[in-house]
Amino acid sequence: MAARQPTPPPAPGADPDAILETKRALAWTHTARFLVTASRLSELPPTELAEIAFVGRSNAGKSTAINALAQQRRLAFASKTPGRTQHINLFELGPKDAPDAWFADLPGYGYAAVERSAKLRWQEVMAEYLAVRRSLSAIVMLVDSRLGFTDIDKKLLGFVAPRIGNGSVKLLVLLTKVDKLSRSERGASLQRATAVLEEVSSDESDVSVATFSALSRAGVDDAAVTLYRWVRRASEPYQAPVAGDALPAGMPQS
Ligand code: GDP
Repeated sequence: MAARQPTPPPAPGADPDAILETKRALAWTHTARFLVTASRLSELPPTELAEIAFVGRSNAGKSTAINALAQQRRLAFASKTPGRTQHINLFELGPKDAPDAWFADLPGYGYAAVERSAKLRWQEVMAEYLAVRRSLSAIVMLVDSRLGFTDIDKKLLGFVAPRIGNGSVKLLVLLTKVDKLSRSERGASLQRATAVLEEVSSDESDVSVATFSALSRAGVDDAAVTLYRWVRRASEPYQAPVAGDALPAGMPQS
């Protein structure tokens, strides 16, 4: 199946169910809280929860995207300190007493100033994580919409292509910073990315691509809904409560 775009956001006056789902999705992503940081794979705790990994080249806008999705200013730090670039940060989502997913913020790659040995170590960590991490259920890949997939992005896709191809790991590619592009440039960026993703897509795969801007918030709601659906499918029937939700019938209305 070709890479497709997530369902468009509900237009004003659109289906109330779609509006409610978007609200729930954003309420859910907003629950993200820092859990633990690990400098190597063996330090990552195992989990039965769905783990969604965020990957991307340094400067692609990964930290900004995570913060935009979580509607928190400092959840993911845009850390550019070389010593911190190799850490995997885990965030937990869902109710505190019954978490339902983890976000794994993986080290940004392709940072020019990183020495060769560190780059090789990064490759090993990423390749191993993407190939063997059992709880990995989905990947959000951040790609600068102006650059498109670079060689190193394609290499990373190659690490995880088997798991994407057989549908065991889902993939959402967000083409970031589209506020910097004209409408026709956005279309071209989307087309180029879709063509690259054909290579990892199959009848079993769940691969999608969308334009995104943390600055204008274009695509933020859609991305939150995609993630929320991934996790809800895995753990029905939890629904993130949203402000103004009606209490179930029979409950005292305060
Ligand atoms: P990371 O290294 O992938 O975590 O990238 P950051 O999130 O730190 O972002 C890198 C740079 O891109 C920063 O200067 C951000 O302010 C900028 N940036 C991130 N998202 C956007 C966006 O949606 N629009 C614009 N114009 N700039 C962005």
